[in-house]
Amino acid sequence: MSAKLIDGKAVAAAVRADCKKRVQSLQDRYGRTPGLAVIMVGDNPASEVYVRNKIGACRDVGIRSEKLLYPADVSQAEVIERIEALGSDPNTDGILVQLPLPKSFDIKTVLGAINAAKDVDGFHLYNVGGLVIGDTVFPPCTPYGVMCLLENENIEVAGANAVVVGASNIVGKPMALMLMQREATVSVCHARTRDLAEFTKLADILVVAAGQPNLITAPMVKEGATVIDVGINRLPNGKLVGDCDFAGVREKASYLTPVPGGVGPMTVTMLLVNTISSAERTLSQAPQEPTAEALRA
Ligand code: NDP
Repeated sequence: MSAKLIDGKAVAAAVRADCKKRVQSLQDRYGRTPGLAVIMVGDNPASEVYVRNKIGACRDVGIRSEKLLYPADVSQAEVIERIEALGSDPNTDGILVQLPLPKSFDIKTVLGAINAAKDVDGFHLYNVGGLVIGDTVFPPCTPYGVMCLLENENIEVAGANAVVVGASNIVGKPMALMLMQREATVSVCHARTRDLAEFTKLADILVVAAGQPNLITAPMVKEGATVIDVGINRLPNGKLVGDCDFAGVREKASYLTPVPGGVGPMTVTMLLVNTISSAERTLSQAPQEPTAEALRA
């Protein structure tokens, strides 16, 4: 068997085309463009690339974005003050703090300062809680993108054995909760899992987000499984690879995401979706100016 490769770029392009329409419809209906504020502290080169991609993606679909760049020695209080101001700015629908923050910052306090109704990354405790009880306002972008890929391929989640390798707050844990919400039977593995293969071999859906090249090899995969490789690793020779032995796993799985070109393009795309959804929610709840017709009545 050679797995069908899930084309994240194509799915992302289709979702972005829909985003463009939703932005246009908000402009036509309410005369307002959705807005995203991206806060970056310090000059981490990887973060710079991610922020550039996010700003570019916003521009492509018509979202207004602003990048707020602070030097690494800025005080946490100053950044929080700005986050709070953005929280009450009626033209800002999404606030994102690019991680990592400098070591002197307390991430929990900074993320907690984001207005939960604009927390498009879904990392605020309120939104994490929403995810736990199955009432998510902003699903975290990477696992949201994975769910979108599974849905696009019509892969049955309910009743499936799903195994998530990696238990971080931004990928593994929310991924497990989303799969559980869709009625999969979920196991979560991490670096202290004793026999990883014992779990992965049971998976109908295997999501790998560990950041370890070649962690998952063909013998660890159930014949015909769906394998979603979230990992992004740069090898010493410069090549970008996921967490799976791509060639080997491809011969065993029925679906597989490539790296690059699988989950990666979906992550930024779901940020656009969350920002637009936020604007739609706010604007549909806002008291509207009466139309000329209503004034005549
Ligand atoms: P973290 O480093 O925060 O978490 C890694 C997780 O993997 C931890 O839970 C860790 O276990 C677990 N782990 C590490 N080694 C092993 C192992 N040998 N066996 C089993 N589990 C292991 O990473 P992130 O969650 O932020 O990211 C994971 C990967 O996904 C990275 O490669 C990252 O670049 C990529 N990524 C890709 C995105 C995309 O858009 N495609 C977006 C975000 C991340 P423990 O908890 O015990 O330490």
